[in-house]
Amino acid sequence: MSEQPRSPKDARRMERLKHGSRSVRDVRPRTRQRVRRPAPVLGSIQAGTSDEPTVVLSKRAVDRLAEGHAWIYRSDIAAPAELSGGEVVRLADERGWFLGKAFYGSRSQIAVRLLTREDEPVDEPFFVHRLAQSIALRDVVRPDPERRQAARLVHGEADLLPGLIVDRYADCLSMQTLIEATDARRELFASLLERLLAPRAIVERNDVRVRAHEGLEQRKGMLRGENPGPVEFLEGEVKLVADLLSGQKTGAFLDQAENRLEAGRYAKGRALDCFTYGGAFALQLARKAERVIAVDISEQAAAQGREVAARNGVENVEFKVANAFDLLRAESEAGARYDTIVLDPPAFAKSKDTIEAALRGYKEINLRAFHLVSPGGVVVTCSCSFQVDDATFERTVLQAASDAKRSVQVIERRGAAKDHPTLLGVPETRYLKCLILRVL
Ligand code: SAH
Repeated sequence: MSEQPRSPKDARRMERLKHGSRSVRDVRPRTRQRVRRPAPVLGSIQAGTSDEPTVVLSKRAVDRLAEGHAWIYRSDIAAPAELSGGEVVRLADERGWFLGKAFYGSRSQIAVRLLTREDEPVDEPFFVHRLAQSIALRDVVRPDPERRQAARLVHGEADLLPGLIVDRYADCLSMQTLIEATDARRELFASLLERLLAPRAIVERNDVRVRAHEGLEQRKGMLRGENPGPVEFLEGEVKLVADLLSGQKTGAFLDQAENRLEAGRYAKGRALDCFTYGGAFALQLARKAERVIAVDISEQAAAQGREVAARNGVENVEFKVANAFDLLRAESEAGARYDTIVLDPPAFAKSKDTIEAALRGYKEINLRAFHLVSPGGVVVTCSCSFQVDDATFERTVLQAASDAKRSVQVIERRGAAKDHPTLLGVPETRYLKCLILRVL
């Protein structure tokens, strides 16, 4: 006897089933999953699309995946003893049902990083597809057919390519392989990127501390082409320069690109850019402000900033080498006034243990900024500490405003640029906060 619909919705579902609609999968009622199948015995799990080793997840880990997370900790898995780091594994629950495929890490506390929830082969075409999908998003959010700008093309777990970062600066690429699995495949990724994008050069920037958690050494150098030297790229109408081999991060702080353009829109009068690095905020402010003071503790950063200002023919930015905390204190004690202030410090909280100290740091610089800003002036205040969430950051900024006895309007609550997507369910992929405030 054929199945009878139990509701109009069910009737529509059955109709779609008959016609083989693609959306059937999404409306499949739960009862279908209850079909009784014998639970497979661990160790004899049938291979689906491949014979990868199986990692069994605890109930807690299964729930975590179901909630959208992509990382599973070592304490929540059972893995075959002979499994080596960097392998692709099948994930199963304790009864043996398939949950997804993942990169396995042998050293990190994060033992498993999800690649797919489908039972599909993880092979070269899989990675080509993932890279092409990532690039396609950037073609939409940051169209740049002449390749004169910069963009993050692959944002690790948020693009379901855990442990892989790829940034494009004009026609050159900078790549980071941060975990065992991507590090072992870096030649593959370099070849695929070469095939997809034909870049002039591919630089490897694997000189980052997080690699130590994975038992990976520090390394940087050329993967394809010759050292391109300083690479010029456009951000809005400003020319910036990234030295892909020796700059910070992969060459620049691309996550702030859209916030810098927005900050430029509000800039006016006397401006102060604290933690300026190569002057990227300062140069956007300089388009509207009369004069900009740009501060960084690093002599090298200031030198780069001066070079970039000259390259743009900009004469109203002054780069100062100073500790921003000291400069802000001295300026506020001297009764100075600024109409536009940008605070873009490095991550003050690098781990849970440093959150309290970090909040004191954020409070202090924001308090100084609120003392210094003129009535009607603008403060652009940022935090890239993942450990400090939006609400906590905003509360800290409010405490600073109250202590300074200033009323503050929030003009925009912003995050990282759109080429740094966040993955719903993975809070770690949302780290950057940027508030554009008007101080009354
Ligand atoms: N605003 C920059 C990125 C800033 S990164 C941009 O948009 O590109 C943080 C910068 O803060 C680094 O260049 C670092 O050298 C600088 N820095 C760190 N501690 C500092 C301090 N106490 N005073 C001033 N600069 C500091």
